[in-house]
Amino acid sequence: MVPKVIFGAGSFNQLAEIISPKRKSRVPFVFIVDDVFKKNEGLVNRIPLNFNDKLLFISANEEPKTTEIDTIVKDLKEEFNGIPSGIIGIGGGGIMDVAKAVSIMLTNSGKAHEYQGLDLVKKKAVYHVGVPTISGTGAEVSRASVLMGPTKKLGINSDFTPFDQVILDPELTIGVPKNQWFYTGMDCFIHCVASLNGTLLNAFSQSYGEKAYDLCLEIFTEDKNSDAEKRAKLMMASWHSGMSIAYSQVGIAHAMSYGLSYVLGTKHGIGNCIVFNQLEEFYGNDVAIFKEMMARFDIDLPQNVCAGLSEIELNTVIDVALGLTPLWENALGKDWQTLMTRDRLKNLYLKI
Ligand code: NAD
Ligand code: ZN
Repeated sequence: MVPKVIFGAGSFNQLAEIISPKRKSRVPFVFIVDDVFKKNEGLVNRIPLNFNDKLLFISANEEPKTTEIDTIVKDLKEEFNGIPSGIIGIGGGGIMDVAKAVSIMLTNSGKAHEYQGLDLVKKKAVYHVGVPTISGTGAEVSRASVLMGPTKKLGINSDFTPFDQVILDPELTIGVPKNQWFYTGMDCFIHCVASLNGTLLNAFSQSYGEKAYDLCLEIFTEDKNSDAEKRAKLMMASWHSGMSIAYSQVGIAHAMSYGLSYVLGTKHGIGNCIVFNQLEEFYGNDVAIFKEMMARFDIDLPQNVCAGLSEIELNTVIDVALGLTPLWENALGKDWQTLMTRDRLKNLYLKI
């Protein structure tokens, strides 16, 4: 779990105070920031750069790759001739995953892809801080850094992955475009649905999942909150749904969306929405609610996304999805392979 968190509008202003005791005599911090903020002087000027701290803008247009992590780590080691005092990731799920992975790879030898999987990290990561600027993935609280590797999209999932400190400042999410707000917000909703309807559900996951689910309904189906309240509540929904799946699993939407992401580069939030929209037979009532939310916010999704795939590509999509055993087990139980045959999955892909 994340040991330290602060929350509140404007709390980003406390970043300097929080990190300064962690500085090792003039050794720099590295701020990994979504390049969408490059032109946002309001935010950039509030990043507390001191001494020779480094500001590294990273694009979130594509999901992070293990090779990208290897390059950043190599460059940082060369530039600083040592290990920075800490890594501060400011951005969405992708940027936070980069920050987590870089902090791990600064202290662990080899290549990032060698650590994709469960508990493969040997050494404690460099001090790392997460500052989400869009709400929904739960990456700020999770024990994974999800990366695209040479053979798979998979998390570096370890006790050393979670941030040492998180700053939850809902004001930082002002400016997220409406569609992206919806897609990433729905990632949170889909986490809750998968967790609450999964075979791995337990009291821990349920308590967080139910709260996050209710918050999502408030935000996406009701009008009782101000914009500021909605921002704050979605940030907490993301946190809670991340906590929920930390002790259970995601499900069919995520397994299928990972396949799309691997072959087509479809991004996480929209990929989950495209798939979830067609999963009535598994999550009936919640898919109906999802469709109402889409209509309410006038959201369109791409159609026939697999139509242009060759047979070989479609098979790869299916292979990647079926490779995610824990997700299927959570969704369909131990006998999932008898329930989710290749043919059934292929038909689902051809529907979306
Ligand atoms: P993202 O990081 O991909 O960002 C989506 C878009 O929103 C980008 O264009 C980004 O520049 C923009 N954006 C972010 N904040 C903004 C702001 N305040 N104003 C304007 N634009 C802003 O979005 P995401 O949905 O948060 O993250 C998806 C990524 O998270 C994927 O790479 C996925 O694999 C990963 N993920 C990780 C976990 C985990 O547990 N580690 C869980 C779920 C998803
Ligand atoms: Zn997700």
